[in-house]
Amino acid sequence: MKTKLKASVLGLARRAQRLVPVPPGHGVVLCYHLVGAETGSEVDLAWDPFRRHLDWLVAHTDVVPLAEVLRPGPRARSALTFDDAFRNFRERAWPELRARGLPATLFVPTGFVDGEIGSPLSGVDRPACSWSELREMQAEGLAIGSHTHRHPNLRRLPRERVERELATAQERLRDELGTAADDFCYPQAKHSRSLAGAVGRHHARAVVGSGRHVRQGTEPLAIPRIPVRAHQHDVAPLFRRGLWLEEWVADTARQYR
Ligand SMILES: [Zn+2]
Repeated sequence: MKTKLKASVLGLARRAQRLVPVPPGHGVVLCYHLVGAETGSEVDLAWDPFRRHLDWLVAHTDVVPLAEVLRPGPRARSALTFDDAFRNFRERAWPELRARGLPATLFVPTGFVDGEIGSPLSGVDRPACSWSELREMQAEGLAIGSHTHRHPNLRRLPRERVERELATAQERLRDELGTAADDFCYPQAKHSRSLAGAVGRHHARAVVGSGRHVRQGTEPLAIPRIPVRAHQHDVAPLFRRGLWLEEWVADTARQYR
């Protein structure tokens, strides 16, 4: 019932998208999870649409590293981010990105790679990348960000456990990859102003949900992203208005859970 309600609200938001008056910003940060993994998950985008996304992005935007999306440029900018460090990223998305010379950021829940927690995506039973795979991809140009250690809802944790999550993840990244992460991604996209203070002590930048475009004045500790869902075969509509209503609705509801 809850899922049905969610689906119809999101469907309504999708239909109302063309009425959104907000003009496009100068950049869009896309959030992918799985590509062609055939899990049936709502964030598992099929292979052909993924390749068409990349075709469109290269033709119509400058695909830049996450840090650069904040700077306005002559063309629309896009940044590619991938969450949860599934081995699927290593097997499917990364070889394709590499072949096209496109930058990307992978947000890694370090406890998933360590085998301390199961899949960060409920209902998706897929393995994580190994540390050696992550080292290999890092050497090939992949940017690696922190996604905490155990992927909890940080809003529900007492302050000292939030601190431990952030510090442990940085320590594991430093130990295994030789460098801590500048970029951070809130697990389950649960964020808040008070969490931003703690996050800012460990990281230079953080991404949140919200469905908005990046524009002049976007705060580095609250860089908005638009998650790509399985039905999003065409990426172009995400760039036409400055607010992607479907994600804005989902993100607003998410902050109350
Ligand atoms: Zn995640």
